[in-house]
Amino acid sequence: MDDVVIIGGSFAGLAAALQLGRARRQVTVLDTGLPRNRFAGHSHGLLGHDHQPPLEILALARQQLARYPTVKLVNARAESVGGTLDNFVVTTGDGLTLPARRLLLSYGVADQMPSMPGFAECWGKSIVPCPYCDGFEVAGQHWGLLWSGPHAQHAVSLFHDWTDRLTVFADGHDIAPEIRADLARRHVDVIDGKLIAVTHQDGRQPSLDLDTGHSVAVDVLFAHPRNRPSAGLHEALGLETVDGPMGVVLQVDDRRETSVPGIYAAGDLANHMASVTLASSHGAMAGIFAQQSMLQ
Ligand SMILES: Cc1cc2nc3c(=O)[nH]c(=O)nc-3n(C[C@H](O)[C@H](O)[C@H](O)COP(=O)(O)OP(=O)(O)OC[C@H]3O[C@@H](n4cnc5c(N)ncnc54)[C@H](O)[C@@H]3O)c2cc1C
Repeated sequence: MDDVVIIGGSFAGLAAALQLGRARRQVTVLDTGLPRNRFAGHSHGLLGHDHQPPLEILALARQQLARYPTVKLVNARAESVGGTLDNFVVTTGDGLTLPARRLLLSYGVADQMPSMPGFAECWGKSIVPCPYCDGFEVAGQHWGLLWSGPHAQHAVSLFHDWTDRLTVFADGHDIAPEIRADLARRHVDVIDGKLIAVTHQDGRQPSLDLDTGHSVAVDVLFAHPRNRPSAGLHEALGLETVDGPMGVVLQVDDRRETSVPGIYAAGDLANHMASVTLASSHGAMAGIFAQQSMLQ
């Protein structure tokens, strides 16, 4: 029996595996190789790995984990989970059955692309979610913000640190008059109409086609499509979740333990703020606290 089965072997899951492997705990990591930022050419903000391709950072992490004989990395999808503390069972898509004392869920979230032409092709290249991840490289350029509700107002004030050339695309939302007044005070143009397509050159130089017949070019568009957990295993386990404007995350305590004893969670699956640094640090915490929960 494994001490811990980790479901999702990206930044959070591998960081957990590293701590558990160093504590000489028996661990299996299941992963399907689809990290959320795989669409991005470079990952930014992770100390020591800034401006590196995300898949290269993960490949290096996997290579370094090979030092730890108790850590097993398996390319497989976790299909079902069940059981209770000290006696969990995970079954994979190819029929592997893995008993474990603890579970660590780090299977991330999937961004739900709007179905319009061009959007998905630009995702990670010229349509991006986060200025901390991709703002520096396009500072001072013409940014667009696709409005997704009143919470988008925070992004407007945030973006001032990177550019003073911002256009808001209402995308069919009814933006309240007081918010419009605030945008006007900040010299931010608002363009009404609903986005129906994005014209682009190999995912770059996006031009936003609106149902009003207008087409507006920007250098980069910031957008926050809703996301959902990449798997439904937490539902089968009956774990508590917390709803946010962009999607649900698993509820965890300060030790990264979920509402069910013995099940830990880390990374974007259990944190509204998407970041490789936070996913890695929460993964390490989850690994450490899972290990400490098994001390004699
Ligand atoms: C376009 C874009 C650019 C970004 N750029 C940056 C950046 O520059 N800097 C930064 O800090 N953050 C960036 N992020 C955020 C970053 O991608 C996430 O915060 C980070 O990937 C979260 O890591 P994670 O380990 O929680 O989940 P993920 O990296 O999403 O990994 C989840 C893993 O679980 C696997 N999985 C899913 N279901 C199963 C299952 N049932 N069984 C087994 N395995 C499963 C998946 O294949 C995947 O490998 C970006 C995000 C996007 C969308």
